Amino acid sequence: MGKIVLWILVGLAAYAAYRFYIISVRRQERSRPPAKDPSLPEVILKCDHCGVMLPQSEAIAGQREPAKHYCSIEHRRAEEADQ
Ligand SMILES: [Zn+2]
Repeated sequence: MGKIVLWILVGLAAYAAYRFYIISVRRQERSRPPAKDPSLPEVILKCDHCGVMLPQSEAIAGQREPAKHYCSIEHRRAEEADQ
């Protein structure tokens, strides 16, 4: 009889551990920010100095004119020094 009670307790402990694990995994998934959809095309911009095309995430915005974009700090410097 004592063994049956022991096995029931072991089963309950395993079930509780399983529930705790599932809840913690769900909580982690919920707290994670949604991943950026890689299927969405990235905006491609043109360097206002040399004309090279580059993704928006790599472009450097102009200091004087934020609407302008450059492929590198050197090109931004060169373009803004000309003005
Ligand atoms: Zn450039």
